[in-house]
Amino acid sequence: ALSHTPLATRSYSADTVLLEQEEVNSFSDLRDLNSLIASGVVSGMGYTNMTEVQKKVIPFLLSPETRGSNSLVQAKTGTGKTLAFMIPIVQEVYESILRSKHNHRPSPIAVIIAPTRELAYQIRDESVAISSYIRESSPEHAPIVRAVVGGVNKRTEFSNVFGKSGCHILVATPGRLLDYLRSDPSLFKYTRIKVYDEADRLLDQGFARDIASIDKALKAVTNVEQVLMFSATVRPDVAAIAQRELGKEYLFVKTSK
Ligand code: ADP
Ligand code: MG
Repeated sequence: ALSHTPLATRSYSADTVLLEQEEVNSFSDLRDLNSLIASGVVSGMGYTNMTEVQKKVIPFLLSPETRGSNSLVQAKTGTGKTLAFMIPIVQEVYESILRSKHNHRPSPIAVIIAPTRELAYQIRDESVAISSYIRESSPEHAPIVRAVVGGVNKRTEFSNVFGKSGCHILVATPGRLLDYLRSDPSLFKYTRIKVYDEADRLLDQGFARDIASIDKALKAVTNVEQVLMFSATVRPDVAAIAQRELGKEYLFVKTSK
């Protein structure tokens, strides 16, 4: 069973924050959302109102009091979980690009692990769409997003993803991520955010060992500050990984639609 400490019982609880911010339905009313990102979502992607899971997760992950918190989010397939984590991640990455003083080649700040190639490409494409207005107004500050997946030629993929342009956000299937982590861990020394998307499907496809290996390999090279897990179901095997990955205190959100 899942024995978490829901942040709802803490002083910086999800409930408190959401109440203080009052219920917000539309992306354009989100207090802490960067206006270029809001334009990307509203004018670029054509979405006005948030889905239930987005209403709970996005304000929490953007709020100055609770941003950076670990989270476990359970919501059915098709409820908009991708934007629920990608909007806050694009904003975190954009702000860290703005703050950055070094000129080293971009390397992954956020790593998103997805069970299939198709999902990885979809998450990448949504991230690119979210940042379309940033790219238009200041291309040099736009997060660079890439995907690495099994079945693609590694040499070509490596030079696209870690070569000249580099990337700030990497979406990956587990095996291919592990390949790169093992061949050159230092590629990931700036990784601060890790996301497991469709955690139940990751486990269905036999990736439990890869997840443990990714965790271990990343720990050796960087201090991952934030872990997010999204899943349609939280079965005991998902709960076990959540417990190991998320630590003692994290946001737990469960929505019915
Ligand atoms: P999940 O990961 O929960 O299965 P997705 O993130 O794949 O769901 O989203 C399902 C569909 O809903 C996608 O086509 C997505 O573009 C769309 N969608 C996401 N958020 C919204 C929104 N706020 N308004 C309308 N459509 C949305
Ligand atoms: Mg999804």
